[in-house]
Amino acid sequence: MPRRLTTPPAPPMTRAILPINHCNACGAKVEYKVPEGDTHPRAVCPACGHIQYQNPKVVVGSVPVWEDRVLLCRRAIEPRYDKWTLPAGFMENNETAPEGAAREALEEANARIEIEQLYTLFSVPHISQIYVLFRARLLDLDFSPGIESLDVALFREDDIPWDELAFTSVRRTLAHFFEDRRSGAYQPRFGEIRPPER
Ligand code: ZN
Repeated sequence: MPRRLTTPPAPPMTRAILPINHCNACGAKVEYKVPEGDTHPRAVCPACGHIQYQNPKVVVGSVPVWEDRVLLCRRAIEPRYDKWTLPAGFMENNETAPEGAAREALEEANARIEIEQLYTLFSVPHISQIYVLFRARLLDLDFSPGIESLDVALFREDDIPWDELAFTSVRRTLAHFFEDRRSGAYQPRFGEIRPPER
């Protein structure tokens, strides 16, 4: 007789989201199971009943523009050390998405920007992330590498280091941007990024 599975296995986890081991209310070891009325296995505490939910993380960023050039940062951190990226990072609690994007530009590039419009939104389900990128106006040329950047520079379309970009979301956003720039109409877009890309 097959053994009855009473506790569903923990969902497949990636490096992006580690499984929960202990209850953040009382510290007991959690079990993964589907709570009544729910559809997904959750980290449930057998001691106090607390349920810890894990949901996708939001990455917010911008395409900071100065005339015909876009600001990129060369990463000083893993993943994708030494590759070029748009300023972007994990949203913090208690901030709006545009505030987060502006904060990231300041942290990574010491750049002051004005957020103009939502531009691209990418779901990256295999690492449980969503990218939200805004078009933005770079307010002055007084930028410099932040602690997470090796270098910061403005690039015209012909100078973009297409083979040295850190993430698919960045490459696709820049491709859309220069395509839209030629036509003069900026179209917000959404899409998805699947393995092995990220
Ligand atoms: Zn507990």
